[in-house]
Amino acid sequence: MGNSNTMWNPALETMSREYFREYQLNRLQAQIRHAKDNTAFYKEKLSDIQPDKITTMEMVTTIPTTTKSELREAQHMGDGLYGNLLADDTESIISYHQTSGTTGPPIRQSDSLRDWEWWTDCWATVLWAHGVRPDDRVFFPFSYGVFVAFWAAHSAAKRIGAQVIPGGGMSSVQRVEKIADLDPTVVAMTPTYAFRLAEVAEQEGIDLRGSEVAIIICAGEPGASVASTKAALEDLWGAEVYDHAGATEAGAWGFSCSSDDLGLHVNEARFLVEVLGPDDEPVSPGDVGRLVVTPLNRYAQPYVRFELNDRVRLSEKNGCDCGRAYRFVDGGVLGRRDEFKTVNGTLLSPRTVEDIVHGFDTVLNEFHVRIEDHPKKDLDTVSVDVEADQNHDYNNQRIRKQLRKELRRHTHLNFTVNVLQSGTLDRNTLKSNRFSDLRQRRAQYRQ
Ligand SMILES: [Zn+2]
Repeated sequence: MGNSNTMWNPALETMSREYFREYQLNRLQAQIRHAKDNTAFYKEKLSDIQPDKITTMEMVTTIPTTTKSELREAQHMGDGLYGNLLADDTESIISYHQTSGTTGPPIRQSDSLRDWEWWTDCWATVLWAHGVRPDDRVFFPFSYGVFVAFWAAHSAAKRIGAQVIPGGGMSSVQRVEKIADLDPTVVAMTPTYAFRLAEVAEQEGIDLRGSEVAIIICAGEPGASVASTKAALEDLWGAEVYDHAGATEAGAWGFSCSSDDLGLHVNEARFLVEVLGPDDEPVSPGDVGRLVVTPLNRYAQPYVRFELNDRVRLSEKNGCDCGRAYRFVDGGVLGRRDEFKTVNGTLLSPRTVEDIVHGFDTVLNEFHVRIEDHPKKDLDTVSVDVEADQNHDYNNQRIRKQLRKELRRHTHLNFTVNVLQSGTLDRNTLKSNRFSDLRQRRAQYRQ
């Protein structure tokens, strides 16, 4: 069982369920009051909601949820950079960040000093759960710019008392050289980039398995909760791989722990997390639903019941081997709602393909899926490009057939599998973009 040494905030992380419920409702009421009193957006949106009347978890579903498109619109109404979303004086804002804008124009995010304390505390909870301690050296092999996550993680590593090595403005080769030179014990990055650096290290003759790196903290993509991806990364780096989930608007809400179960704890002291079905009611543990998050200590730009669009499944287990009382989502983020594609009437999840490709040791980890119109029939076609690893001939038909069979078994779709020479596919350095939906004719059937 866990003990206080494994937790950043043991009192909160082991709090009883009953107390949590009361604590969260109190914080939610305060947050609604704050948002209504101080932002033009929530003053109007929650005009019918009386915070004092929200006294049970069942009543939470009577509060309307907030979508990204509403935020976009509200930000361009009213004055200043943050429009109708700003709750504080502009003088109190200490940092500007923005969302990545993958699904539309980015949303600007303001944070005050106390918001930054909250970000730091949330990330310290993540890092501590992953084993980061004051004697660690933490390397961030990224140029961190307008996106918030790595800045918050950087702050939290310093808060813990660890030594931080910022890795911006370097090539991948220079970064693996830094790992060899400076002996960091922790590296934080996206799973895609962890594969990329491992590839570069091999080309440069740098032995990552023999390095001091003992902990890899993955963020930005769900890969580290995919069994085959986690196992492949642990093998390449000779390190423990941990997962984390968060978003600019919601904050760093989830983190994996030392338990053997794949998935994420929800930081329930800082977030009210709901998992809802199509009827907007909470789904039972074990069922997949969409995530709605309320950050409970966010002030300059508060959010109430923010629709995160991620699909998750709350665990049916009670408690966790690590000793935390926080609820657990099995398998982490299962995918974004808009990532799922309907192909010939079958729902295809990018993560299923990732899991299968990363489970094959004859191919490299990079891959690219294309969904297209069939040239003659009223059908979709789906193909995947993979690369044979250096020890296998890319003309080897066995690799192609085995992969095709495995993909059919798990997705019920007939993939065209193209096995290419290693190094043929484009490598994205930050986040992968491995799915292209190029259909024209059947666009109306898309998810
Ligand atoms: Zn746990």
